[in-house]
Amino acid sequence: MTRKILVTSALPYANGAIHLGHLVEYIQTDIWTRFQKMRGHECWYVCADDTHGTPIMLRAEKEGITPEQLIARVHEEHSRDFAGFHVAFDNYYTTHSEETRHYSEDIFGKLKAAGLIEIRSIEQYYDPVKQMFLPDRFIKGECPKCGAKDQYGDACESCGAAYAPTDLKNPYSAVSGAEPVLKSSDHYFFRLSDPRCQAFLREWTQRGGRLQSEAANKLQEWLGAPDENKLTDWDISRDAPYFGFEIPGAPGKFFYVWLDAPIGYMGSFKNFCTKKGLDFDEFWGKDSKAELYHFIGKDILYFHALFWPAELEHAGYRTPTNVFAHGFLTVDGAKMSKSRGTFITAESYLTQGLNPEWLRYYFAAKLNGSMEDLDLSLEDFTQRVNSDLIGKYINIASRAAGFIAKRFDGKLQREHVIARFRAELPGLLEAADEIAGHYEMRDYARGLRSVMALADRVNQYVDRNQPWQLAKQEGQDAKLHEVCTLLINAFRLLTIYLKPVLPKLAQRAEEFLNVAPLHWRDAEYLLPPAHPINPYEHLMQRIDVKQIDALIAANRESLEPTAAPAAVSPAPTSEPHSPQRHAQHQQAIIPPPQPSPAGGEGVSGGAFAPVIGIDDFSKVDLRIARIVDAQHVAGADKLIRLSLDIGEGDGKTRTVFAGIKAAYDPATLVGRLTVMVANLAPRKMKFGLSEGMVLAASDADGKSPGIFLLSPDSGAQPGMRVK
Ligand SMILES: [Zn+2]
Repeated sequence: MTRKILVTSALPYANGAIHLGHLVEYIQTDIWTRFQKMRGHECWYVCADDTHGTPIMLRAEKEGITPEQLIARVHEEHSRDFAGFHVAFDNYYTTHSEETRHYSEDIFGKLKAAGLIEIRSIEQYYDPVKQMFLPDRFIKGECPKCGAKDQYGDACESCGAAYAPTDLKNPYSAVSGAEPVLKSSDHYFFRLSDPRCQAFLREWTQRGGRLQSEAANKLQEWLGAPDENKLTDWDISRDAPYFGFEIPGAPGKFFYVWLDAPIGYMGSFKNFCTKKGLDFDEFWGKDSKAELYHFIGKDILYFHALFWPAELEHAGYRTPTNVFAHGFLTVDGAKMSKSRGTFITAESYLTQGLNPEWLRYYFAAKLNGSMEDLDLSLEDFTQRVNSDLIGKYINIASRAAGFIAKRFDGKLQREHVIARFRAELPGLLEAADEIAGHYEMRDYARGLRSVMALADRVNQYVDRNQPWQLAKQEGQDAKLHEVCTLLINAFRLLTIYLKPVLPKLAQRAEEFLNVAPLHWRDAEYLLPPAHPINPYEHLMQRIDVKQIDALIAANRESLEPTAAPAAVSPAPTSEPHSPQRHAQHQQAIIPPPQPSPAGGEGVSGGAFAPVIGIDDFSKVDLRIARIVDAQHVAGADKLIRLSLDIGEGDGKTRTVFAGIKAAYDPATLVGRLTVMVANLAPRKMKFGLSEGMVLAASDADGKSPGIFLLSPDSGAQPGMRVK
């Protein structure tokens, strides 16, 4: 039965470059939609640039261009980068469109008619020079707790305290430097706390097996017990000046960027329907039988699994069939870093001449459909691509093709080989359904393991038969022809199984095999007798380690003081955005020059401690620890509760309360390694017993932002002593 499927990826913010962290999601989604198309389903993949909001407005202003000019330029850059990685959207649009405006107004109007929109006056900091209300991250000042200077309006990056912008001492606007004043203004709220939303979301989110189990648990936590009402109303308006859609009947009020961003999925699809002559309602109407899937990062689950379905439901549209959340990308076990050169843009990867399908294959080999983070280990990347793709897969074609061309006039054997094929290479034809099942469940890692196990089997067949020996022996022509015919057929089947991941390579393989574009059902049979193939041309290069070194060097930003401010300035928005977006904002907004701290430039760790002997140092038992769990601590504004494995065995872990909440999202910590003081006397705290401490860097007086958890180089194991 042909399914109708509409698929989206989260909309990238039109404020910066696409990097490898973004690509995890687009490659994951692209593989899935290519697979569905290969299966013969009607599957459409749409996306768009997310173009509204304060950061875009200010960035354009800073560049001396209009926001429209900025988003047009970024749209071209994004389109180029996605095409470079073979991400094949059916439509890549913009949220700054009449279609998105139409559905934003429509949904807002219907929610209003349903009594789910409320106007409330709120008091906020206002920049009297710039004449605009300031988001929390555009307000800076001294920390009310520790006095650190130049802290953002929501949290202190020196001591970790969280607070309201109005708590800051000597606040100033990060936009103009002026002292902000408090001013009240009417805001529009979507009443998520309404019992109708509660009831709907409880049913929708917990309906049997809809969401990934981790996501379902998260939502259960957000929704609370059946007798609780933990959902709070959502502020969906912003005051002028703002780059976005003005709210109908409310001059000077605009839809908050997060209101119209998901609606951009509808806008892009509507635009596509107009071009293609498709029926929009067949996919978005209340009674739609089509499937609708959103691929997202786990950090925007709240928007896609609470606000979004609640809006759609109460505005009379269908709700998503499912929301697929993925984890974040780390490189060599750590967050992407500009100073280490692991903050790698799509553009630099391509201009350094690296093959995009290497990355597609590696990501696919690690994606298992869960919300776990995914690590790009550069050494493993090189080894796996070279060993799997070149060593196991491509090799099959290159070993057989020459003999077919030279000895057999470029044609396969004249006899039917299906019986021989099944006997010599059992499982190759039969694996299609199992592999398809893994793709369907987004467990590409398992799917590719199966494919590579089949490739191993084919290579064992090569070793058993040694075609290069047969070629030298008298009277073995028929045997050689059969072996090569079986190998070409095996290569064709593996190509079908890999095609969603490696579309370009598959296309070249199809040319070599002299066949029409391969579909999944083509795995049901072999090539016809005497089928002619084309001369073999090299299909893919190996990765040279030097290319990786050059890529890292090209992305490494100098830590010279002149370059530092732009590189390290934290995200200027308090709005819950994906880390990708944070990263983009980092590039976009450079805070105004700060008063020079006494004593000159650079970070200070404070005065050095008195000299100690080695014996004193040896008393401290430092161990490599793996963070096996990390949780927020209810009622603590600085602390994260860590469960640490330090190699004590039997699944035993230590609990440590670490004051790192301002710098880390607990979810991003799980799985990483750090260093722990293992013999510190346990300390009874308000929240429980802390059995040690983890090591993190910060400066003494809070001039420089951040808390930096230590990580060992790759290869270290939990329990290893640090000395
Ligand atoms: Zn502080």
